[in-house]
Amino acid sequence: MAISGKTRVCGVIGDPIEHTLSPTIHNAAFNHLNLDFVFLAFRVKAADLEKAIQGMRGLGIHGLNVTMPHKSTVISFLDEVDPTVKFLGSANTILNKEGRLSGFNTDGVGALKALRENGAELSEKKVLLLGAGGAAKAIAFALAEVGELVVLNRTADKAKELAAVLGQRFGKKVVGGPLSSDTVQKNLRDSDILINSTKVGMHPHENQTIVEPQWLRSDLTVMDIVYNPIETRLAKDAKAAGAKVISGVEMLIYQGAASFELWTSRSAPIEVMRRAALNRLSGAGASK
Ligand code: NAP
Repeated sequence: MAISGKTRVCGVIGDPIEHTLSPTIHNAAFNHLNLDFVFLAFRVKAADLEKAIQGMRGLGIHGLNVTMPHKSTVISFLDEVDPTVKFLGSANTILNKEGRLSGFNTDGVGALKALRENGAELSEKKVLLLGAGGAAKAIAFALAEVGELVVLNRTADKAKELAAVLGQRFGKKVVGGPLSSDTVQKNLRDSDILINSTKVGMHPHENQTIVEPQWLRSDLTVMDIVYNPIETRLAKDAKAAGAKVISGVEMLIYQGAASFELWTSRSAPIEVMRRAALNRLSGAGASK
């Protein structure tokens, strides 16, 4: 693809950023659809965030993904944010429309699509969500249609607070509590879907898991949003138990696809993006 004076620039900002997968995924998609776009990674230190966003305006950068540590602090530099960003207090995507910067969060929609597109039934099901960090919050917010949601977190107060806010918003059963062997085992017994949104099992701690293999069953759907390694210990154990397993790469692709569609107004080439991500991940360690 030739870069010219008309090429639209997108990118990702974060710190650290060297291992980001986003340029790999988005440039593969732009090339596949012959779009005159290019995607770059920018290391932006926390103290330089405001200048970076002013730079986005000044340079006419068309779209940005935002990753740690800027997902919350970036909001105050944008012109508008959608209701999901307002609720979550974090944005991972910016669209520059003729100088007006709008913020979105595609993590929840990415998780929802990963579940649905991989055949998970959500309606009236019981979901056990492990974790109450940024990703867990986005996923919990997107799971409005499920019957019952239990959020367990190492820092129990965060899970309780999230459950209280969601219960009020959705008017349905959302319970929050501490993450322990007992609470996981007990809640897993009558759950249909298990989602790990903690960092447990992430490189370089590939051998760690919260869920004992004997607690897993063939009628469970298990999604581990950790995507490095591609197949986590939890995913391996769930596969061995005969459960339906959905990899974190799926959420990564679908949240990226949602950003891509905001920037280009074109349908994202999911298979091309998936192949690019898997190729990269099967090589050196990487992060979003
Ligand atoms: P975060 O906001 O820092 O939250 C981390 C979560 O992990 C918290 O709930 C934390 O519990 C929990 N945790 C960390 N270490 C733990 C341990 N040893 N035992 C039990 N719980 C532990 O991070 P995040 O942005 O939500 O990301 C979480 C994971 O999801 C990361 O691995 C990230 O790479 C992955 N992720 C994947 C995608 C995707 O597209 N697939 C998208 C976003 C994130 P406390 O609250 O008690 O600290």
